[in-house]
Amino acid sequence: MSTSSLKPEILISRLSHRPCHLIGAMITISDPPKPRALADRLWTHRVSSLGILDRLPPEIMWMFLDLLDIQSIARFAMVSSRGNTVVRSHRPYRDLVTFAPHVLAAFGRTGLNGLHSVAELYAALQTERCAKCKEYGAFLFLPTCERCCWECLLCNPSLRMVTPKEAKRYFGLSERYLHRLPTLSVIPGNYGICGDPAPDPCKLVSVKAARSLGLMVHGSAEKLAQAMARRCKSTLALIVGRYLQGEPAVAQDQDLLLMPCQGNIPTDNFFGMASIPFPSLSRSGRVEDGLWCKGCEVTVREHDRGRLPGDVLAAVVPPDCGPNRVLVGLERRARSRESFLEHIKHCYGARKLVAELKTGNS
Ligand SMILES: [Zn+2]
Ligand SMILES: [Zn+2]
Repeated sequence: MSTSSLKPEILISRLSHRPCHLIGAMITISDPPKPRALADRLWTHRVSSLGILDRLPPEIMWMFLDLLDIQSIARFAMVSSRGNTVVRSHRPYRDLVTFAPHVLAAFGRTGLNGLHSVAELYAALQTERCAKCKEYGAFLFLPTCERCCWECLLCNPSLRMVTPKEAKRYFGLSERYLHRLPTLSVIPGNYGICGDPAPDPCKLVSVKAARSLGLMVHGSAEKLAQAMARRCKSTLALIVGRYLQGEPAVAQDQDLLLMPCQGNIPTDNFFGMASIPFPSLSRSGRVEDGLWCKGCEVTVREHDRGRLPGDVLAAVVPPDCGPNRVLVGLERRARSRESFLEHIKHCYGARKLVAELKTGNS
């Protein structure tokens, strides 16, 4: 049944959702506090200056603010009423506070406040695409400030965290070097699809940062691999080490889900502990949070019950891919508004739901 006779807003409201089991698998910050630096009442009626900085034209001042991290810009705003006015006029920070306050709070609570500049964060806010593939990225991986999709979070080793002890083993790092890595303090809570509680306390480092440091220390990928092999005493540890040191052989313009399985991917014991839902802000000012397709959920259900027609399955799943991985991956995929409206024209489950909508069964 065609979707073209229904208005986009109706289609979006009836066919999209935000699956709690995916959103809740990551860092959750409910009711994030508004930064005190931007509170209106703080500086009312006070006059002050920024000293020598007052001589800078606004454009130069904003470039300077771009380079500050979240904590520093908040402190700058607290210096004086003039500083507060300047920060309030700085669009990147204002937009971050308005549209992603939960993300700013997450940086603070994980101890990563000083890791990225306001400009880096704002650039991530203004992109839609996952940094690792061509899909919409509904999440932010805090340690690298990269927007990412569910599938890449699941499969790409650069978007993983390990304990400092594991970083030593898999990247041949001594205690002396380990201290150079930024450490994330896991926010207590439940993570992953099964909602397992995080170990408390738990400190983690990013695989990407550990690998870069390992490469610097050992000089080449080959020597890094040898250093890892010397430290890994079991076959399983070797498999995990090779996976963490590698990069998926998938081009950025390919669909990871429709590629043959890259082999067994080791379990990520810290899935979700460094990532958080992240809206995207278009140049025109439109904010999106990602849309998940209810139709894809129907497709998975029909497949589980053995009711999915063979021609539908063959059209969606390439011959060398496992149907479960592809169908569940599509169910977990978030899309931009534009790509969602395009997707539901061809999605088996969505077309089924539209037919029910039109006959009044929904
Ligand atoms: Zn991706
Ligand atoms: Zn769908």
